[in-house]
Amino acid sequence: MKYVFGPLSSKRLGQSLGVDLLPPKSCTWNCVYCQLGKTKKFATERQEFFPREEILGEIREALAINKGIDWITFVGSGETLLYRGIGWLIAEVKKLTTTPVAVITNGSLLFMPEVREELLQADAVLPSLNAGTEALHVQIDRPAEGLTFRRHIEGLVAFRHEYKGRLWIEVMLLGGVNDSDEALRDLAAVLKEINPDMVHIVLPTRPAPEQEVHLPSQERIERAIAILSEVATVVHPLKGNMDLRCAPDMLEAVTAIVSRHPVQQRELHKAIKECFPGESDKSDDTMQGMLATGRFKLVEHEGEPYWVMVQGDTVSLEPSGLSSEPPL
Ligand code: SF4
Repeated sequence: MKYVFGPLSSKRLGQSLGVDLLPPKSCTWNCVYCQLGKTKKFATERQEFFPREEILGEIREALAINKGIDWITFVGSGETLLYRGIGWLIAEVKKLTTTPVAVITNGSLLFMPEVREELLQADAVLPSLNAGTEALHVQIDRPAEGLTFRRHIEGLVAFRHEYKGRLWIEVMLLGGVNDSDEALRDLAAVLKEINPDMVHIVLPTRPAPEQEVHLPSQERIERAIAILSEVATVVHPLKGNMDLRCAPDMLEAVTAIVSRHPVQQRELHKAIKECFPGESDKSDDTMQGMLATGRFKLVEHEGEPYWVMVQGDTVSLEPSGLSSEPPL
């Protein structure tokens, strides 16, 4: 499939079917921790990158194959809300199924009323907030020109007022960057202004191709939970697993996931073993097959081997004209 991948499992969203609406990598930010590598050219102009009916067709097909999906999650190769028409897709998915819909976004375009409007039917929206000051926002998120910290916060506050669903803010906690007491207190002050339903602390557990990022210490994670809990309900999600059991083509399913984020070798090994119980060689065979394609390689991060796509290789999504000009 071109747009749909997974299901993947996570503590937050259970079994989640991913839908990627973007050509890689289309983003308004260039985060230091991004698993997709450097944003070579900012995309800030919203477009219907791929025909909406085609995407809906794949979702329909995936729902017929995969039973027991907990969430349909719009997420993918960049900033999800760059896709103009996501509101239409959410509405159409809701006609197909009662499975709730989540949208993972960096939130940088929420200052635009038409973007907020498109999200009103989603059951959960998960925007990012990694900093409580402009300086740290620029250091971590490295946004396109014009996408200031204040504009980001104004968008989140306005969305909170208009949106009746679940607003779960994601905070990427980076060791030595935004895990000091001062940075956490700044973040807490902004979170108080936004008033989300929950805050999810996430960690840089996967390798970032562009820059070395570090896990915070256990003491700093606990400190972050303590400080942010003063203003919001905080969740520190456990890592989820992949479920490849319904994948009609193993290599295609693995490619769809690895092209969107690095996958821990151990996690992939476990997922393949679950597909072929009793066939212990199957996992090694699949991984040998992956290496033989020349499209994958193993890299090490925090002492763990991870599968990534080789530089320049992506899923076969064609960009349809990205813009480096902010529409501001
Ligand atoms: S917002 Fe997401 S896709 Fe964009 S640069 Fe940051 S981590 Fe990467």
